[in-house]
Amino acid sequence: MDELRKQRRHIRHLMEYAVPDEQLEAAADILVLFRHDRLALAVCDEFYSYLPEAHEDWIKEFRLVAREKGVFLLAAVCSEDAYLYLVSSEGVEFHGSLQDGYLDRKLLHFFKFTDPESFKERARKIDNFPLYQSVQTDDNICPACHAATGEEHELGCPVEICPWCGGQLIHCSCRFDKLGIEVLETEQDLARFAEMLMHQGRIVYSPEQRPSFADDGPGIERQ
Ligand SMILES: [Zn+2]
Ligand SMILES: [Zn+2]
Repeated sequence: MDELRKQRRHIRHLMEYAVPDEQLEAAADILVLFRHDRLALAVCDEFYSYLPEAHEDWIKEFRLVAREKGVFLLAAVCSEDAYLYLVSSEGVEFHGSLQDGYLDRKLLHFFKFTDPESFKERARKIDNFPLYQSVQTDDNICPACHAATGEEHELGCPVEICPWCGGQLIHCSCRFDKLGIEVLETEQDLARFAEMLMHQGRIVYSPEQRPSFADDGPGIERQ
């Protein structure tokens, strides 16, 4: 069984404990809306596993609070409050309630908020943040590593195009040709390759690079 389907099933199961019966149907809609979205599903999984206020609640929608490279700060909007989650392909971290309007300095800086007060001010109204669109449907976000149009992919991203041969960088043989080796074994090899790549100029993400198939089975072919 594929990984995302398994995760959706797991979340659906957690929902049965977390969500009031009469809201269960509505709560489950999010699993349909974001069925191919690893980030949203990771937040759902975290939320329903460790309910922030330890009482019944459910996520109505996601808002995009900030995004930088492949790292997203999402607000999971619930009935009374919204909760901040830092999420990327690396994992998910809870960052408190939006109402508190608090974000630690490192994150403020990372997401280029000018100061704690202006973040607090913005956090006061949920409408200040756009609805989060699934990264799988937003053409300006790499579906694999979540780099935005014009940004470099994460090294190892399957969507990145090789600047030497125009093929898929993780599958073409340029890395072996360039390094003059048969297998890429050590961290040093990888670092050396990353340097050559930088020197050559990496091809940043653009929407034409989107694969025509996502990785989650049939029924989601895109053009
Ligand atoms: Zn990518
Ligand atoms: Zn190549």
